[in-house]
Amino acid sequence: MNKKGIPVLYSGCSGVGKGTIMKELLRRDPSIRLSVSNTTRAPRKGEIDGVHYNFVTREEFLALADSDGYIEHAVYCGNYYGTPKQQVEDMLEQGCNVFLEIEVQGGLQVMEKYPEILSIFIMPPSLEELERRLRGRGTEDEETIRKRMAQAVEEMKFKDRYRFCVINDDVDRAADEVLSLLNREQNN
Ligand code: 5GP
Repeated sequence: MNKKGIPVLYSGCSGVGKGTIMKELLRRDPSIRLSVSNTTRAPRKGEIDGVHYNFVTREEFLALADSDGYIEHAVYCGNYYGTPKQQVEDMLEQGCNVFLEIEVQGGLQVMEKYPEILSIFIMPPSLEELERRLRGRGTEDEETIRKRMAQAVEEMKFKDRYRFCVINDDVDRAADEVLSLLNREQNN
């Protein structure tokens, strides 16, 4: 991966508040860009194609995978998700610090390809708090919540593979911590 900007592998379980911290990071630091993933998942209410995700068909997804167009890709809760290579390379080339907000299977692929990458895992203060947040979001049905909690427990087993863990006990504090990790990496 090109090193003009810094790529950041940014993971954590669904519902942990990664997206909320990410919004705060984007607001505070104009050098940060979020890679827009391709997914076969249906858009949630309010999600915009090309902004939150590129919503693609299974055929479109697999065609790009066949032509080696992803940095990584994975199946999560029955849907495909992948990070388009070209887009990330272009943003790094422009000197942006590019966050890859992806789940653990994809994260492991990225760490295998780029062992030195700045990798950050966002943890909930507790599993009880994670479940409360997932329910509070109100966008998922009971079956999906159950699946996502089980997935979260699995994902947390991989937290030690990441270079840093940040606990999302408070969004501002967690964003401060992520920014200081990025600054430290920049100055290395
Ligand atoms: P959601 O459906 O809640 O938007 O995302 C489900 C999970 O997929 C989240 O953990 C999210 O970070 C992850 N994800 C989003 N984009 C990608 C991607 O391009 N690759 C992988 N491996 N995971 C992704």
